[in-house]
Amino acid sequence: MGAAQNVTGSRHLLEANDTSLLVDCGLYQERQLRARNWEPFPIAADSIDAVLLTHAHLDHCGFLPKLVREGFKGKIYCNTATAEIAKIILLDAAHIQEEDARYKRRRHEREGRKGPYPEVPLYTTADAEACFPLFSPVRYRQAVSLGEGVEATFYDAGHILGSSIIRAKVRQDGQERIILFSGDIGRPDRPIVCDPTVFDRADYVLIESTYGDRVHKNTEDIKRLIGKVINSTKKAGGNIIVPSFALERSQEVLYYINELLLENSISPLTVFLDSPMAAKVTEVFQHHPELFDEEMAEFVNQHKSPFNLPGLKVVGSAEESKAINHIRGTVMVIAGSGMCTGGRIKHHLVNNITRPETTIMFVGYQAIGTLGRQIVDGARKVRILGQKYKVKAKVVRIHGFSAHADRDELLDWLRELEAPPRGVFVVHGEAESAKAFGNYVRKKTGWDVTVPGYEDEAVLD
Ligand SMILES: [Zn+2]
Repeated sequence: MGAAQNVTGSRHLLEANDTSLLVDCGLYQERQLRARNWEPFPIAADSIDAVLLTHAHLDHCGFLPKLVREGFKGKIYCNTATAEIAKIILLDAAHIQEEDARYKRRRHEREGRKGPYPEVPLYTTADAEACFPLFSPVRYRQAVSLGEGVEATFYDAGHILGSSIIRAKVRQDGQERIILFSGDIGRPDRPIVCDPTVFDRADYVLIESTYGDRVHKNTEDIKRLIGKVINSTKKAGGNIIVPSFALERSQEVLYYINELLLENSISPLTVFLDSPMAAKVTEVFQHHPELFDEEMAEFVNQHKSPFNLPGLKVVGSAEESKAINHIRGTVMVIAGSGMCTGGRIKHHLVNNITRPETTIMFVGYQAIGTLGRQIVDGARKVRILGQKYKVKAKVVRIHGFSAHADRDELLDWLRELEAPPRGVFVVHGEAESAKAFGNYVRKKTGWDVTVPGYEDEAVLD
């Protein structure tokens, strides 16, 4: 019902023994598919017994408020950290939907026309809050019984904090089948989170393919590059402005700065985390040390957590945020949104983009049409908050932060299975990427691989 030859809107329905389970309930984010967010859910929402969430990214959980409004009353099972982060993400999404609707209404009134979608929010803050009582957090590796002969267990996917691979086990007529839902699979050796869990047995596998048609270049030494940016900007006397996503990326940047400080590769630095959402997400990280990998756990045990950096200042109010504008020395400001499309980053860009001594450091993907993309593409002048500014600051892109396994890492993950599964379904990738990965797996393993389309059904026998 989604993420079928496209990346967002992850929703897979598993029906077994009269139990109906929805794995993920994501929002469509691709422009050409967003209309589906406004359509009623493909099946009656009250016929679904439970939702199983792999993780808290919007394209996996962002449709929940609408599903609940349409009548879903079951439980939403997910890892404890996922439940906490999903609540933050859903409230933020509702807020953005409300703002957008207001803005659209005003614009259409002014222009005397009507847009293709209703001028009401897709869902409201109240709709998001209505989901909260349904969340049923579970720990990794703790099996949940979901009905007659149906159970599910969550395992660490190493993608973002709390992310899970879901292993469903179905017993019917004395036979048993194991179905793996990969969710989004992380990369080995990433900061903070553990490596993805591998499995030696499965009958069916649904696997993501975001980067199913490419191999990440040799991962750049992210830490070394950040160190270079900090040292050169300090020398020049400017600030370092970091547009960043609130979830995972901001925490990873803090992680690298912490390491650089501990190694004495940089001198003490004031870092403003100027994103209320990033601050809330960081709090969730702080009270889930059990989810950290070994290195991160060691930092915490030695009281050297990146979230307690000596120079770290978590900015609260808008006034505090504006006060940073006057600082001309070298500080780092991490603020959202990650693609500079909204949020506090805009004010920081206004105050720093015309200064040649400043560096704007991009640590995430910049979609076409965003302000961030214009800046990384080398625009000489950009429009921010209604005014034009010359881009004189240095612009640096740091690649290699990807939270998704690439083609070879995905294949390695599959190959941990000791016997060929009965079927592999490739999902969560653009059509070309999903098909290329499907062919690649078929060629390398000889397994039965399918790349399903929207609303395709398959019998798992
Ligand atoms: Zn994800």
